[in-house]
Amino acid sequence: MNTNEPQLHRSAQPYFPDGDVVLRAAASEGVHLFRVHKHLLKHHSVAFNDMFHVEDGSFSDTYDGVPVVDMPGDRAEDLALLLSYVYHPTQLGQLSFKRFDPDKALKVSGVVRLADKYLLEPLRNHLVQQIASDWPTTLEEWDIRDAEIQATRKAVFAQKTTKLSRIIPEPVAAIIFAQEFGCPQILPAAFYQLAQINFKHAWEDLDEEVPPWMNSIPAARWSLLEKDNLVRFLHGFQSLEDFRPHEFYLLSEHCWPTKQWADVDDYGWIEERSKCYAYLCELVKVVWGKGKRRDPLQLLLECLDYGKYPELSKERFPEGLCEHCRESLPTEIARERGEVWERLPMYFMLK
Ligand SMILES: [Zn+2]
Repeated sequence: MNTNEPQLHRSAQPYFPDGDVVLRAAASEGVHLFRVHKHLLKHHSVAFNDMFHVEDGSFSDTYDGVPVVDMPGDRAEDLALLLSYVYHPTQLGQLSFKRFDPDKALKVSGVVRLADKYLLEPLRNHLVQQIASDWPTTLEEWDIRDAEIQATRKAVFAQKTTKLSRIIPEPVAAIIFAQEFGCPQILPAAFYQLAQINFKHAWEDLDEEVPPWMNSIPAARWSLLEKDNLVRFLHGFQSLEDFRPHEFYLLSEHCWPTKQWADVDDYGWIEERSKCYAYLCELVKVVWGKGKRRDPLQLLLECLDYGKYPELSKERFPEGLCEHCRESLPTEIARERGEVWERLPMYFMLK
């Protein structure tokens, strides 16, 4: 063994003294050598089986007494993770990442590519699932996760030491991952979350010194968004900005217009005749005027808190909403929110 070559590293993991082949792959620094067992690799992967079949008897290089196989294009760090799976398929410890780790999608991309290349489907599925599980695919899941993130945000604000972005999933990396590795079901939530992040808050600036209160403001990897995704994002952003619930459909059936009304285009005319309609128009105006317009899922929820707005005081609306409309409003709001959620793929041009 030549110890004068500093660029060569004997990789600590895995390197089995009784291994019958050495895999050589370039690392970020130098070259890593993995001494492993051919039969095990062949057992897990048809691709390895074919590779060793071809290579048998034609090895040009040896290391530590066994043939060396070059792994061109494979990053040693990724290969190490893949091999750890091959040796311990039931212990995915090294390949299990922290829930909500914002770097996860970037960290596993390389290994997933290798799992694809060497046809290790269980490993690939496990890793894709690791990313997908951080993203909701239904409105119910979105609400639970959003409540968790908002609570985390409050805690971060109070602590002043942790940065929120470091402990919640980052949407741009997830979007790129989902598109490359085929888990499009997470795209609507990832794009929606991205639309909630201010453009001025870039991932690259996270290490900069900022006043503690800014730690609770999320950032995104904006610079990784290439043209097609940027267009999708802008289209969705604008659609969310433009969304308003139709006050008409927030009314209870009891206060719905008669047939005679239905033909009327002049909402002023309706407003004069329906106190509930006038109230709901004011409610939407106030909520959309005060809140973050690109978050209609949240704004719709805030409509349920109508009692808190001074613009809707008893002085201005002595009768408030009628009993029927008060009762049906939560159902109508839930329906509107469901419709917004269903429209996200259209907003972000995902279909
Ligand atoms: Zn009513």
